[in-house]
Amino acid sequence: MSQTAKIRIYLDQPLGQAQTLSLARDQANYLFAVMRLSVGAEILVFNGRDGEFLAEVREANKRAGRLLCKQKTRDLQVPPDLWVLFAPIKKARTDFIVEKSTEMGAARIIPVQTEFTNSERIRQDRLQAHAIEAAEQCGGTFVPEVTELMRLDRLLGDWPHERQIIWADEARVGMAAALEGREDQTKWALLIGPEGGFSAEERARLAQYPFVTPVSLGPRILRADTAAVALLTLFQSHLGDWHHDPA
Ligand code: SAM
Repeated sequence: MSQTAKIRIYLDQPLGQAQTLSLARDQANYLFAVMRLSVGAEILVFNGRDGEFLAEVREANKRAGRLLCKQKTRDLQVPPDLWVLFAPIKKARTDFIVEKSTEMGAARIIPVQTEFTNSERIRQDRLQAHAIEAAEQCGGTFVPEVTELMRLDRLLGDWPHERQIIWADEARVGMAAALEGREDQTKWALLIGPEGGFSAEERARLAQYPFVTPVSLGPRILRADTAAVALLTLFQSHLGDWHHDPA
């Protein structure tokens, strides 16, 4: 395999041996103008569904290009069935949460509007592009869907009861015990609040649902982006795929 095969890009097209792939303008620009690849170079491609393939450049110009899909290099590796619910904060910190959730193994990312959520709008397309970039960079073969902003109260009202929520509750202590003996559950979600925390009303609502488990992330108040990474770490090491042998 040549040196250039280390470049990995996401392509939203079916992948399979001998398949021809066409490149959009921004991808052609990246590969041929920025990375200066030419015909014959090999890269890795994935689409979030079919695994990862080696592909050879067959046509290269700055506005378009074609690749030939060669052999499969990795099977699709799906993360645990884990949703990350977080209240959007400042732009760079929101981007960070999407990026880290993708790298650390979330299946779906849901920005939620809580009473104290700092922003009322998100750019879903931009956040989805961040998830794709994070998967490209971390060697992931799966890309979590990033949804539009949803209201937390509505989401909880329609919640599928078989999915357990681990709620990062800044008013709690005693984390580890809450996750012991829960290995039989397969559908999970994590909930992280905004900089202002949860309102008294939200806290009372969350506490009454049988599918919600409040947990503490220690004696100090973490910023929401730190809390997201800490909670993902705890989940993945107790109940997720970090303790599984790779297939
Ligand atoms: N303004 C809130 C306060 O002073 O209590 C702090 C909110 S904190 C910056 C943002 C979110 O991170 C919280 O809503 C919670 O989900 C999570 N979080 C931060 N520190 C935590 C901790 N020690 N235990 C559990 N969750 C925590």
